[in-house]
Amino acid sequence: MQGLNIYSLLKKLFPICRSITGNGVRETLRIIKEVIPLDIYEVTSGTRVFDWTIPKEWNVQDAWVKFNGQKVIDFKLNNLHLVNYSVPVNCKIHLSELKKHIFTHPDYIPYVTSYYKESWGFCLKQEDFYRLEEGEYEVFIDTSLTSGSLTYGELFIKGKKKEEILFTCYICHPSMGNDNLSGTVLLTYLAKELLSKDLEYSYRFLFIPETIGAITWLAKNDVSNIKYGLVCTCVGDKGKFTYKRSRRDSKINKIVEKVLLDSGENFKLVDFFPNGSDERQFCSPGFNLEVGSLMRSMYNEFKEYHTSGDDLNFVQPYFLEDSYLKYLEVVYILENNKKYINLNPYCEPNLGSRGLYNLTGGVKEVPVSNIAIKWVLNLSDGENDLLDIAIRSGIRFREIVIATERLKEVGLIIVV
Ligand code: ZN
Repeated sequence: MQGLNIYSLLKKLFPICRSITGNGVRETLRIIKEVIPLDIYEVTSGTRVFDWTIPKEWNVQDAWVKFNGQKVIDFKLNNLHLVNYSVPVNCKIHLSELKKHIFTHPDYIPYVTSYYKESWGFCLKQEDFYRLEEGEYEVFIDTSLTSGSLTYGELFIKGKKKEEILFTCYICHPSMGNDNLSGTVLLTYLAKELLSKDLEYSYRFLFIPETIGAITWLAKNDVSNIKYGLVCTCVGDKGKFTYKRSRRDSKINKIVEKVLLDSGENFKLVDFFPNGSDERQFCSPGFNLEVGSLMRSMYNEFKEYHTSGDDLNFVQPYFLEDSYLKYLEVVYILENNKKYINLNPYCEPNLGSRGLYNLTGGVKEVPVSNIAIKWVLNLSDGENDLLDIAIRSGIRFREIVIATERLKEVGLIIVV
């Protein structure tokens, strides 16, 4: 079961303290590279990328707060305790001053960042915050914020066509499972699977820091071959699937919606909105790429989002496997969605004489329905592709493909 492999990679990556730059990202990419042959890129701090500048590189060794010589907050127990991108600090301050640097959440340790404003802080569960006693505290943050680089990983898999399908995820969050290690590990195994296949489309996988990484990649690369894309995030929890459509009308929306419909499960469709993850950059008006996002529970819609509650229990192998299979199904439709022409368009051909009538188990022992055969024959006029036929008929895409294969075998249709 692939879900167990995906989950075990997630477990291995979970403890690493990642950020939008730094050694946590490098270590994460190095481990992914043990599974797939990633190319790793470094872009120097200070580089202009559209309206943004690559920030200084941040690294962290340790961070804690002590009271009466005892650690009361400890980064080493959970890296979410430290505000991501905190500047170095070594001082003694009174509780009232310390409180100005503490962020809380009622149930969990919240995830807080300060990438573009130099500051420092700690994050605590509310009850731990209330437990802090009056007095003087020792604050120690051993971090560095220096000129370095932003790191990202990329894998290109060449297919027969030069048109590319983009699968992208972000690798900048510290110890959280669903947002977004789940997307990172799912795409690692999806890429591994596609590497072993003979493909029609070319596929490009990006492992980038969210927002600034997407902006950087878009500033440095030619996107003219990108046909469709998906941002893979929040795919490991038990929630039902959510598909966020691309900004512009696109076949990728129809494909993902058909995959979800064919699964027979409940799911939710959301129209594009200019917030969320990297689809914001890929669908910005200058690019307007056909990129959507297939998730389970959408970010912001689960209470564990951006907290320590999004842990190794919140994501489970079964759900990762289920999401992985949905992504594979998207690839299946992409790879098999072709147009055919009916070579016998004047009235229905005689199906009985070709062994196609009332066939419930053909020679290949795959059930093929007469109605699927009739839909394929009727709509294969060079205008409709198999996805159009599957959507219009309400028949599962895979069943339409089986019917198409039989019709091809008996010479009733040919590919356009
Ligand atoms: Zn996030």
